[in-house]
Amino acid sequence: MTNVVLKLESIKRSFVSGERELEVLRNINLEVAEGELVGLVGPSGSGKSTLLHIAGLLDRPDEGKILFQGADCFELNDRKRTRLRSENLGFVYQFHHLLAEFNAVDNVAMPLLTAGASRKEATKKAIDLLDRMQLSERIKHQPAQLSGGEQQRVAIARALANDPSLVIADEPTGNLDWETTNEVFEAFIELVRQKNASVLVATHNRELFERMDRVLTIRDGELCKFG
Ligand code: ADP
Ligand code: MG
Repeated sequence: MTNVVLKLESIKRSFVSGERELEVLRNINLEVAEGELVGLVGPSGSGKSTLLHIAGLLDRPDEGKILFQGADCFELNDRKRTRLRSENLGFVYQFHHLLAEFNAVDNVAMPLLTAGASRKEATKKAIDLLDRMQLSERIKHQPAQLSGGEQQRVAIARALANDPSLVIADEPTGNLDWETTNEVFEAFIELVRQKNASVLVATHNRELFERMDRVLTIRDGELCKFG
């Protein structure tokens, strides 16, 4: 029996634009197991980001349920849901969103400090994560002093800082060239495997699919097996 980390049940989400209603997610059902890597593909505009926002508890579905480790997330009050998110979820986006005036180690330490770790503890853990991302020579660099791939590796280290059970990544290598994409993705997968985190990742890059346990596509607002 595998443990289900995230379960989406009959999720619906529409947007109203002018007089038209756009049904982006019509009936999404998904279970992500502990330590499972799930890839999400689909053309631009198919609803990948909308789905990841909902799975990341950043947006509410119009209908349906999201269960995180069995708890119904939208039955929780805002404070509890925010806490569940900060303690259990990690996010990686196409653009790194690192804080420009902070160096790499401080960027990675930030979520740990926010969660109540001491400065010493947070710094130690951040250095370890950066080391695992092969950035031990770059810990004092500010984002502007890093290459695109290095910035993204810092962002990945930051997303993993709080040992999330689930990492949600929205085209994390969408802004990188092919070679850098492979490097960053390799490092990302190695780190999440080490930590036994689950991953839900939207990507356009077919070469990355074979690194996933499962790849799904959104078609007409529903998920189906890719290929
Ligand atoms: P993808 O990430 O697959 O490119 P998105 O989830 O970003 O797709 O968008 C799916 C569709 O929903 C698009 O047609 C987009 O224009 C629309 N959409 C997304 N967010 C909103 C919003 N907040 N308001 C109105 N329409 C939206
Ligand atoms: Mg998107």
